[in-house]
Amino acid sequence: MSAAIGIHGAVKAFGEHVVIDGVDLALPAGSVTVVLGPSGSGKSTLLRTINRLEALDRGVVTVGGEPIGVRLRTGRNGLPRWKALPERALRRQRSRIGFVFQHFELFPHLTALENVAEGPVAAGVPAATAKARARELLDRVGLGDRGATRPRQLSGGQQQRVAIARALALDPSVVLLDEPTSALDPELVGEVLGVIRDLAESGTTLVIVTHEAAFAREVADHVVFLDHGRVVEQGPPAQVIDAPQHPRTRDFLSRVH
Ligand code: ADP
Ligand code: MG
Repeated sequence: MSAAIGIHGAVKAFGEHVVIDGVDLALPAGSVTVVLGPSGSGKSTLLRTINRLEALDRGVVTVGGEPIGVRLRTGRNGLPRWKALPERALRRQRSRIGFVFQHFELFPHLTALENVAEGPVAAGVPAATAKARARELLDRVGLGDRGATRPRQLSGGQQQRVAIARALALDPSVVLLDEPTSALDPELVGEVLGVIRDLAESGTTLVIVTHEAAFAREVADHVVFLDHGRVVEQGPPAQVIDAPQHPRTRDFLSRVH
């Protein structure tokens, strides 16, 4: 069986600056992967290539075995090459990949419930069905009573929980979370980590960029340490977090602990 998420020979540069420098990863269905690495090491870019918020210069990403944003065509020279999918097809693929941003990115003019229901409605789900499902999801993240509230009336932790509910609204097979707790006041981190822990236990494939090493040790099946756009070290948390082999990993962990 192919991996839930496959990253094959990924290379991405911004101008001359190579940010993802030959990454290969295979993440099994239901697994929880934590990506660690210093600021600027390419963690966000790597996550964003998975749902093609960033297009790769080389390589391909697959989700559920399906290449994201591209299909294989025969070029004029008779050799196969990747061709970009039309925007509509890409949107359909993206709907199966939930994304949670550091700064929540909720629509300020919509209520919590509308924020969660908006994606499904845009995808053609009848409004009543989308709202009923949104209510269930808000319940699941402990905000069943806040559906009518606008983001600015919610705490950061509540906003991020709404954002997680929104990421689940189209029943994605994978959910990507980019530093989901790093914009939160310390006392609000726990409630969001709690929701992510439940999600991890539910069997959704997760990729989480986080500096919360204790949380990573607890929930991750797999830890990837990224530096200068390369996977320097990867393995179970007991290996990468508790007994890192590479000096860069050791140095990083000694600073975040
Ligand atoms: P991390 O999330 O690990 O902090 P990023 O993936 O955000 O790292 O960024 C990696 C590098 O790529 C950084 O040097 C950043 O400045 C650069 N970068 C990220 N996005 C862009 C962009 N859209 N244009 C130019 N440079 C970018
Ligand atoms: Mg980042």
